[in-house]
Amino acid sequence: MDSVAWLDRLIAFPTVSRDSNRGLIACVHEYLAGLGARVRVVGNADGSKANLFASFGPWGDGGVLLSGHTDVVPVDGQVWTHDPFRMTERDGLLFGRGACDMKGFLACMLTAAAQAAARPLARPLHLSFSYDEEIGCVGVRALLDVLAAEGPRPDLCLIGEPTGMQVATGHKGKISARATCCGVAGHSALAPLACNAIHLASDLVQRLRARQDSIASTGMRDSGYDVPYTTLHVGRIGGGVALNMVPETCTLDFEIRAIAADSAPEILAAIAGDAAALTAEVRHRFPAAGIRIETINAYPGLDTPANSEAFALVRALAEAGGPIKVAFGTEGGLFQAALGMPVLVCGPGHMAQGHVPDEFVSRAQLARCDAMLAGMVGQLAV
Ligand SMILES: [Zn+2]
Repeated sequence: MDSVAWLDRLIAFPTVSRDSNRGLIACVHEYLAGLGARVRVVGNADGSKANLFASFGPWGDGGVLLSGHTDVVPVDGQVWTHDPFRMTERDGLLFGRGACDMKGFLACMLTAAAQAAARPLARPLHLSFSYDEEIGCVGVRALLDVLAAEGPRPDLCLIGEPTGMQVATGHKGKISARATCCGVAGHSALAPLACNAIHLASDLVQRLRARQDSIASTGMRDSGYDVPYTTLHVGRIGGGVALNMVPETCTLDFEIRAIAADSAPEILAAIAGDAAALTAEVRHRFPAAGIRIETINAYPGLDTPANSEAFALVRALAEAGGPIKVAFGTEGGLFQAALGMPVLVCGPGHMAQGHVPDEFVSRAQLARCDAMLAGMVGQLAV
């Protein structure tokens, strides 16, 4: 079965993050075990989802880890010209949910697995299939805990998110957080006698924007990114019931995406300081009012040196140009933090085609990825 046939099969599992991925995992498990791989499955608490880790060749540290997530984003509200969970081909383009992000790479991993099984390896090839990446790199953490405790520890990790087969050495780290602003309710006719939670929230938004302005004008920079500095952004706000009521609560969801030179936790701490100052101001009059900040999710950034051996190897195998950095997050930062190895991101397709209706990957991109992974298996066999 080649990578296109595998992609056809993988797309048919509707592994939207909110649903189970066990069907796909069972299919991959059966295939890899049949090839002679050592397979470990690390499931979630209720058993509805699982990570799968498989190894070929000598057992132990070293070798290469190929990694991809099995979940895909939903198709709700999107207009597709065909069934998103049945692969369709047109003019060398393979359409379907996850074709680009990132079942194309998973398909190439399975092709490489057959090649690894067919020859003796001097160093191991490891494969990792994770769940719940699309909701904040959630699922892989359980697998990484096991690997950090028990090994193996590969020499190199390749995350196959779509980069058009260019080799990415970095992405920003991210914290998603929620500010819950509490005021004191009242009749709007007496508004100044109450404490307006929406006004409190907008004061915090102003502080966030002031911090963003200062970072953009005088903060640290990394020219590898389209936006070469750390970004702050409010993405959701909710508060108020009716115009004639002073709102009692308002919530703000915001995020920090930090370059390696900045620390997202430090920036969050500074924002918490802003919230504490605003709280102190309103508490003179309203002891129950204030702002509480909590972290919703976080993952570390990725920053692998472009002058590393790992980059030189993958660049040569992928026949890629110079290093790039990607705007989207990956599980790479978590792998790097947990296992302390160089991590690179390189995979077929372009993220512009991910998450959209009529998502696709080209046969040409899959062929380039197959060639890179065949070269990788060849290296491990030497
Ligand atoms: Zn992805």
